[in-house]
Amino acid sequence: MYSYVSHLYCPKCQDNFDSSTKQHLCHCGSPLLVEYHLEELSRAINKDMLQTRPSSLWRYHELLPINSPENVVSLGEGMTPLVMMDELGKQIGIHSLYMKDEGLIPTGSFKARGASVGISKAKELEVKEIAMPTNGNAGAAWSLYAARAGIKATIVMPVDAPEITRNECAIAGANLHLVNGLISDAGKIVGDLVQKQTIYDVSTLKEPYRIEGKKTMGLELAEQFNWEIPDVILYPTGGGVGIIGIFKALKELQQMGWIKPDKFPRLVAVQAEGCAPIVEAWEKKEKSSEYWQNSSTVAFGINVPKAIGDFLVLDALYETDGCAIAISDQALLEEQKKIANTEGCFICPEGAAAFNAARKLRENGWIKETDKVVVLNTGAGIKYPNTVKMNVPIMEPEERININ
Ligand SMILES: *Cc1c(COP(=O)(O)O)cnc(C)c1O
Ligand SMILES: [Zn+2]
Repeated sequence: MYSYVSHLYCPKCQDNFDSSTKQHLCHCGSPLLVEYHLEELSRAINKDMLQTRPSSLWRYHELLPINSPENVVSLGEGMTPLVMMDELGKQIGIHSLYMKDEGLIPTGSFKARGASVGISKAKELEVKEIAMPTNGNAGAAWSLYAARAGIKATIVMPVDAPEITRNECAIAGANLHLVNGLISDAGKIVGDLVQKQTIYDVSTLKEPYRIEGKKTMGLELAEQFNWEIPDVILYPTGGGVGIIGIFKALKELQQMGWIKPDKFPRLVAVQAEGCAPIVEAWEKKEKSSEYWQNSSTVAFGINVPKAIGDFLVLDALYETDGCAIAISDQALLEEQKKIANTEGCFICPEGAAAFNAARKLRENGWIKETDKVVVLNTGAGIKYPNTVKMNVPIMEPEERININ
C-alpha cells in the first residue's frame, strides 16, 4: 500500500472526517489533522527499507496522505542536509549545534514541502483551482507546484512581501494580487473569494495536508540522527505549521516504535519582537494567542499576527517542556551576518532569528552546553537580497588593490 492514511480528525472536538473527499476546517472551527493506520504500517515496513528509497520526502510515502503514486507532484524536495555548526557552536557554547538547511530545497524555502504534499492531494481530489493568502514563500511554492500539476492558482500577498516571491508566482502563471496590508488582510480577501466561487481554499491549515508535508522535517531529523532524537529543536514560527508538523511526526514515530516513547526534544517557537503572539501567550501560560496589533519584522515568513493553529503550537511547547522567545530585527540581522562569515552559510532572516534564540537560551542557561541542538534554517538567504546593505567601492580598470 502506498499510503496508510486512515481518516481526518479534529484535535479540538475529536470528530472524524473522510479523507477521500475535500475537507477544510472542522465545524467547530479547528484545523483537521490526518490519522494513519500506524500499527499496520509498522508491521508492514521497517527502517531498513528506507535505505534504498529516493532521497526526497516521498521516501516516507506510507506516512503521507496520497493514495496513488501517479498523483505525486514532486521536484525532488526533502532530505535536506544536517550541517554541523562547529565554529558557531564554539562561540555560543554548545558542543553539538546543527543546522537543518531548508534553503537547499526547490523554491528556496521549506514551503515546498507543504506545497508538494498539498498540491499532490489536491490533484488526487481532482481540484482544478486553488486560492491562498501568503507572506511570499508559500505563494511562490504553491504557484510553482500548482503549475506542475496543471492546477490554477490565485495568490494574495502583502505589497511588502519579498519581491522575488512575487516574481515566482507571476512566472508560474498564477493569478497574483497584492494587498496594501498584512497576511491577515490577504486572508480575508481569499476567504471572500472562496465563498463566492468553487475554488479550493489552501490557506494555512484550512486544508489538512500542508502540515503532512512539513511533518517530514521531523521524520528526516529522526532518520538523520539515526533515530536518536536531539535535545532541543528551534523553529522560526509564523503560522506554526512547521512546529506542529515536527511534533506530529515524532508522536507518529513513537507510536510506530521507531523512536523511544518517552523522549521528546524541547521544541522552541522563535518569533520576531515585532510580531510575537505565541511568545506572549506562552509567557502567560495561555492555550491560545491574541491578535498582534501593527506587526512588523524583516523576517517576513514569521509575520503572522494570529495563527489559526496557535493552540496546537502552544500544546507542542507545553507537552515537550519547550519555550517561546522573541528576537529583535537588529539581533537577527547581526546573527545572519555572523553565520555567513563564520560558517559560510547565507541563511534567511527567519533562520537567523532561530540561531540568535539558541545563543540567548544558552546565555540564560535554558540550553545546556551538552545539549544536542538543531536549528531549522527555513529558507535561503538569497531570497532576501534587500536584508543585506552593502557599500562597495567601484574601481577604475587602471586602479590596483592594496592590501596592507
Ligand atoms: C513560512 C515561513 C516560516 C514560518 O513557518 P510556519 O510553519 O508557518 O510557522 C519561517 N521561515 C520562512 C522562511 C517561511 O517562509
Ligand atoms: Zn472540531
